[in-house]
Amino acid sequence: MKYRLMKNLPNCLRGRILESVCLGKSYAVVLTKQERESGSVTVYSWPKEDVESNPHWFQPVDENEDENIAKIWEHQSNPMFHPLTCGTDSKHALLTPMINADGDVVLACDDCSYHQVFIINDEE
Ligand SMILES: [Zn+2]
Repeated sequence: MKYRLMKNLPNCLRGRILESVCLGKSYAVVLTKQERESGSVTVYSWPKEDVESNPHWFQPVDENEDENIAKIWEHQSNPMFHPLTCGTDSKHALLTPMINADGDVVLACDDCSYHQVFIINDEE
């Protein structure tokens, strides 16, 4: 089981993936290749109980998560990229990707009712 960090921390943005470590006793942030190479990044980890019983901070990642949702989270949690922000007020929380009732990927603001359908651009 993997979890996703739902709060922003210094050097660790909302959306980062946590994986089970230390024989399942705790969860730690998965470092990106860039971070591993830089070697200067703090590794965050939390006890298993804290992660599994605190849905405001950590949410389980669906194994069959939509790949666009995963990509958007990666984008939002990478400080190298400009994050996707609310179209009503850019000071609101960064947009959260989700699937709406029609099955479309949408980006929603947690602070107001703003949402936009995500346009998939296949650059790769
Ligand atoms: Zn908003």
